[in-house]
Amino acid sequence: MEDTLFNRRSMIKAAAGLGAISTAFATTGQVAQAGSHSATPKEGLISIHKLGPVTFHTYTSPEYSGMVNAHVIETTNELYLIDTQFVQALASEFSSYVDSLGKPIQRIYLSHSHPDHLFGAVQFPDVEFVTSDEVLAEANSAMDIYKARKDALKDTTAIVLPAGGLTIGTETWDGIEVQIGQVLDAEAAAELTFHIPEAGLYVAQDLLYANAHTFPINNSENWLAALEDMQNLEGIKVFGSGHGLPGAPGLIDDAIAYLNFQNQAIAENNDGESATAAILAKYPGYGAKDVLSFLSYRYQK
Ligand SMILES: [Zn+2]
Repeated sequence: MEDTLFNRRSMIKAAAGLGAISTAFATTGQVAQAGSHSATPKEGLISIHKLGPVTFHTYTSPEYSGMVNAHVIETTNELYLIDTQFVQALASEFSSYVDSLGKPIQRIYLSHSHPDHLFGAVQFPDVEFVTSDEVLAEANSAMDIYKARKDALKDTTAIVLPAGGLTIGTETWDGIEVQIGQVLDAEAAAELTFHIPEAGLYVAQDLLYANAHTFPINNSENWLAALEDMQNLEGIKVFGSGHGLPGAPGLIDDAIAYLNFQNQAIAENNDGESATAAILAKYPGYGAKDVLSFLSYRYQK
C-alpha cells in the first residue's frame, strides 16, 4: 500500500488497539510473539515462524501505519531483510529488534518502491541495500510524490534509495536456495517475491494483503494472476505478506476473494465513499482501513 493520512485520532486508536490487532489477526499455530524478548517493540508486533533451515521474523506496524511488514530471514549465520517500514519511530524499533538477533545483516532487499516499505532504510546506513532496475525506476519516477509524503510525515530524515541491478533468479543465502521472482504491473509497477523451497516460505510482500484492505490503484488482472500462481505452488507452509500478519496458504484464497469483491464494489458504486462503505460492510474486521481513501482515484476521469 501507499502511505495513509495520519491524524491524532488514528494514532491513539492504533495504540489502544494493538492488543486487539494481535488477536484479530492471529494466523497459524506457528506464530509466536516474542513477548519476553529484550527488544520487544512497544508499538509494532513481532511474529516468528521456524521453518526448516530458517527463522522468519516479521515486524508488523500498528494500524495507523497500515499494518505494514518488514521481514527478517535468519539463517544459521546471517540475516537477510525484506523492506524497512515507513514511520521512523517504527523503523527504529524494527532496527533494534534486528540488532538483538546478534547476527550480521547480509543485505536488505526492497520488494517494491512504495514509501511504506522504503522510508525506514535510513535506519540501516551501513548495510547493502538492493533491488531490481524496475523497482528502482519506479522509485525514481515517483520521487517528487515521495518527498511530499515525507514532508507530510514531518520526518526530517533523507530518503535512501537502494542500488538497482539485482538479478531476478536464484541466489544462495548462507547455503540455502532462494528463488527471487518479479511481478510487473500489479500492486506496484514492479514487485519482488522470495521463495525458499526448503523452508516452505514464500514472501509475496504487497501482492498479499493478509486480513487487510488492499491498495486499490492497481492492475488487478495481473495481480489476481500472480495470486493464482501462488495458489498453485506446492509445499508452502507460510506466506509472507506486505500488510497484515503472515500465515498459512488460505490467506491467498482470502486475498483473491477480497480483490474480486473490491473490483465488484468499485464497478457497482459511483464514488469512493460508497465503494468504501460497501467494502467495510463486507470486511468489517480487516486492517489497513485508511488505504481505502485511495478509492476515490478510481472514479477520476
Ligand atoms: Zn505496502
